[in-house]
Order: sequence, then structure tokens, then C-alpha cells
Amino acid sequence: MGREFKSKVSTSEALKDTKARHIISFSGGKDSTALAIYMLENYPHIDFEFVFCDTGVELPETYAYIKRFEEIFGITVHHVNALQVHGFEEKEGRIPFDVILRERYTGYLPSPQVRWCTKALKIDPFEHFVGDDDCYSYIAIRGDEQRASMSGGKSVKISQKENITTVYPFIDFQIDLETVKSLLDDSGLGLPPYYRWRSRSGCFFCFYQQIGEWQGLLENHPELFDRAKEYEKMENGRLYTWCEKRSLDQIAKLKKRYVVPKGEDLDGCAICHL
Ligand code: SF4
Repeated sequence: MGREFKSKVSTSEALKDTKARHIISFSGGKDSTALAIYMLENYPHIDFEFVFCDTGVELPETYAYIKRFEEIFGITVHHVNALQVHGFEEKEGRIPFDVILRERYTGYLPSPQVRWCTKALKIDPFEHFVGDDDCYSYIAIRGDEQRASMSGGKSVKISQKENITTVYPFIDFQIDLETVKSLLDDSGLGLPPYYRWRSRSGCFFCFYQQIGEWQGLLENHPELFDRAKEYEKMENGRLYTWCEKRSLDQIAKLKKRYVVPKGEDLDGCAICHL
């Protein structure tokens, strides 16, 4: 089946541009990490910048995975966040998600319908990092997947700004899932360890999680499950929850163990889950 979107600029063309910045965004997921490895190995003469938009509420496995990547390849991944965008002082214990939730959204939890978190915590920090410079944003959509549904059929881009041109090396070079796994294995990184119980990268309380993934969070990180519960609240007789129609307390009591779906088959946020 033909893809619904195509890069306007090919990766080969982008790589010839010596004036623009070349930026690879990490989500902590397998595809974006494999893309970083692929580009480093194949284009060592390019001065790539690596950036991770840190919500402050990512899984510990994600932070450890990025650190391991830095150690193996001897490079620095820039951690950017929403506090920098809005001029909040960065302090230990000050969590970007919590500050934005409280200061900008009056405690209103994000959801698939009102997904303010992706814009505020992923897109804005990325654009802040780029500024007005011309740059190529390398995105790890693979040649063998169909992610158009994740963006309503539009191209998956982190930013729509004119100075940021998105390129898709894995589509241009037809890199598939098997090659992604080989790149990760051969580097010594392997798959992110959370894939054993969760299908995608992103915040530990991401509302796109399925019940089996919430159960995985409870089993693997009970303290994070409890923190996720603390965000849920009752207001004016209405329960605000991460999971539609069920509170995390209810999920914790389920007897049935649900399977963890494959991230490849799910809708979600392409920017957070690459
Ligand atoms: S991972 Fe989920 S909760 Fe976190 S910013 Fe992305 S969509 Fe929002």
C-alpha cells in the first residue's frame, strides 16, 4: 500500500546541506534510537545533534537507555524541557509536566481528545531548542509501518515551522523492523527493556496505555503506579482518570491479566512513541 505522506526533501538531499543543523529527536523508543545509530554509523562526517524532550515523567528505563546510548557512542543527548520554554527555574524535584499541568492547564489532565501534553512538553521544547535556525528534523518512521493514522493521515512531524524541514531516512532507505532490531542488537543496546511489559515509550502515566500496560506498570513500578493514581481526582461529582471510565484503583483490582498489545498496531502519539 502506498504511503499517505512523503518527505518533500529526501534524506540524501538534506545530508548535503552544510549550512543547516541536523537534529535527531529521541523518544527513548526503539525506532528513534535505531535511527540515531544508523545515521551515526553511515554519516559520521555530519555533525548531528541529538535531543530528548524530557517531560520529567518518563520511565526510569528510558533515562537509563539514553544514558547507555551516550556511553556507547560517546555523544551527548541534549535534554530539553518545558520549563526552559516558559522561563521557569529548573530545580531538583521540579517536574516539567507538573508545572505545566498546574500553571497552564489548571490541573486539567490531558487525554486523547485534549492532548495538550504533546504540544507543551514535546513540541514546544523542541522548537525552543531549534530557535529560528534552519534545520532538518530526522524522524524515525519506518518503511514498513503505517503511522498515518497517528496523525490523522498527515505527515508525522514534530514541528510545522518553516525553518524545520522533516526528513524520513527509514522510509527513504527502506529500513524495516528487522533492521531496526539488528541495529540495536549490534550496538549492544538491544531493545528498551520496558518493551517486555509496555508497547511504547513516553510518560509513565500515558493515557494511551492499554489495561495490560497499566498492569505492567503496577508490577514493575508500583511507586509510579501510585504516583499516576495521585493525579486522578474527583471534582464536582466527576472522576478524572487516565483511563476512560476506569480509575487506576479499579484497574489494580482486576483479577484478569490483560495482554500487552503491540505498539505497531496501536494508535497513539507518533511524536512521543517513536
Ligand atoms: S507520552 Fe502520552 S502523556 Fe506523555 S506527552 Fe506523550 S501523549 Fe502525553
